Amino acid sequence: MHFSKSDRLKQLPPYLFVELDRKKAEAVARGVDVIDLGIGDPDLPTPQFIVDRMVEAVRNPAYHRYPSSSGMPRFRQAAADWCMERFGLSLDPAQEIVCLIGSKEAIAHFPVAFLNPGDVVLVPTPGYPVYHIGTLFAGGETWYMPLTAENDFLPDLDSIPADILRRARIMWLNYPNNPTAAVATSDFFARVVDFARENEIIVCHDAAYSEMTYDDYKAPSFLETPGAKEVGLEFHSLSKTFNMTGWRIGFAAGHPELTGGLRQIKSNVDSGQFEAVQEAAIAALASDQSCVRAMQKVYTERRDTLVSGLRELGLEAPFPKATFYVWIPVPEGHTSTGFSSLLLEEAGIVCTPGNGFGEPGEGYVRMALTVARERMEEVVDRIREVL
Ligand SMILES: *Cc1c(COP(=O)(O)O)cnc(C)c1O
Repeated sequence: MHFSKSDRLKQLPPYLFVELDRKKAEAVARGVDVIDLGIGDPDLPTPQFIVDRMVEAVRNPAYHRYPSSSGMPRFRQAAADWCMERFGLSLDPAQEIVCLIGSKEAIAHFPVAFLNPGDVVLVPTPGYPVYHIGTLFAGGETWYMPLTAENDFLPDLDSIPADILRRARIMWLNYPNNPTAAVATSDFFARVVDFARENEIIVCHDAAYSEMTYDDYKAPSFLETPGAKEVGLEFHSLSKTFNMTGWRIGFAAGHPELTGGLRQIKSNVDSGQFEAVQEAAIAALASDQSCVRAMQKVYTERRDTLVSGLRELGLEAPFPKATFYVWIPVPEGHTSTGFSSLLLEEAGIVCTPGNGFGEPGEGYVRMALTVARERMEEVVDRIREVL
């Protein structure tokens, strides 16, 4: 029998890092001490008090049964309290918060609730690939909004053609941003709310990096913007904030009809996250957040080591205000893939070519701050040798 994949699956974009993965595997096989700055996955363990709460909760037979698919009331209350404490948001945990099995599944599922075939979704590029993939799975069409240095990596809303706007139903935004590390101003968010109202577009804000910030910078929630809750929804994740990428836990917050649509999809696809994981997440959200400050301190040291070192070498690496990425323009005469291949082959350093996140990412590489500070010094030393 011949198994033919669906047209939607066939439309998935090619995996752009095949060549880089092959070169990395070869280098490892040759015995090269490879330093991997390619993956956005924290290397630090989950804080012990969160692990301890999980261990205790696993023993509770009440949690061995099906969870409720929108999340335990206590989890949603903890998420609402955290949003109040952190952003001053007043959210109704029963109607305006949904528990997620990590934010990725919800980013992929959300369009199924509000998109019809042929509808358009506005997606930032370079960007997290899931915004486009969720659009494809729902039968929609993606309109890419380029993020460029000239626009401070904020989409130029005025450049979207009128016929696209008529068909657009959803707009994805992500600040602090992966991969550019850009942050959004409250002015920009205010313009987005007006734009969404005028054009009847649902705003989905991916806030995965809201707590991964440096110095005195505090990232705003999109929902702090006056009127934002009338037009949108925000996706929060515990993955980066509490080093919990493996646990799969997050929440969406916003307009009750939008959380309701998402809840309806999810209740038909999954049956919610294990309640022991939700218990651990409650411990994380309700804590004094000192573990978040400790995480910020570690990344600050790594950022300063890497960025100061690269700047001394003449690279124009900016100090990011947020995220654990550094978005670095490649030196004159190089392309994104050319420069990352050079670093891998001659320095044993893996970084991600910017064009892998979308065409406007050409001319950049992304380095993730996911190795210890001493290894960051080694990164700088090795790049010095290559240049
Ligand atoms: C890491 C990341 C997420 C979070 O994914 P989870 O599924 O919650 O682990 C979401 N959006 C972006 C842009 C990310 O980089």
